[in-house]
Amino acid sequence: LRTKGIMFLDHIITKDNAYLVEYNEIKAQLEHKGDKDVRKCVGTILNYRRIETHLNHQSLGPIKQATKDNLIDWSLSAKWFDYNGRNDTTTIAHSKDTKWKIRCSTFSLPTKDILHQNFPLLLPADKLNCFFCNNILETNDHFWTCLQLRTTIVNIFKKLGQDLIDILANNADKHPLLINDSIKYSKTFRWAFQNEPIHPVVLLLMRSYITRDLVGIFRSHFNTTKAITTFYYHSSIIVV
Ligand SMILES: [Zn+2]
Repeated sequence: LRTKGIMFLDHIITKDNAYLVEYNEIKAQLEHKGDKDVRKCVGTILNYRRIETHLNHQSLGPIKQATKDNLIDWSLSAKWFDYNGRNDTTTIAHSKDTKWKIRCSTFSLPTKDILHQNFPLLLPADKLNCFFCNNILETNDHFWTCLQLRTTIVNIFKKLGQDLIDILANNADKHPLLINDSIKYSKTFRWAFQNEPIHPVVLLLMRSYITRDLVGIFRSHFNTTKAITTFYYHSSIIVV
């Protein structure tokens, strides 16, 4: 798997690095530190590795590129992946949330291309076109960019943008008069309000990554990271 460059969630969310690195690299770094938690960390990595193998991961190449382009806030993304908004670790709802985050972020939502790999007899090769447009192979990439879904996604982002404006207007620490522009001219929302092509940061956000652009909006109107994190969690239902 390593020779094929297949990456897993654990490769990219490490407590100390919060950065996209190869499995071997992470392991070597942890071992060099002689940290007491090394065993625990490596254990976690191996656990994730096992889970992710089951989930039939595709390459996380686009995420690597987004990391190089500095589009992802890895520190807050790691916190978001860990976050339990259900106040109970055992709820089915929380398991569903986590499964959704992992599958979105690792391109392993059960789209027809993946289902075909796993169940070639149930889903034959000539029936893999997108459920919505019936024109292009249904993949985790196409799922977010299908032209048939664009209007729906545009409207959702317009509503989210407006909701965020209202919420910030009631909670911001600073620059209340700039809130409207902060949102409507951000990479995350501008495309929807101006009817432009979807921005790459939006695809990352929809896949459960916390983008630098989104954090930038919050930073413009809150004084501390703690306030941003707390506020983000409290309003996470909107983003989800
Ligand atoms: Zn389609």
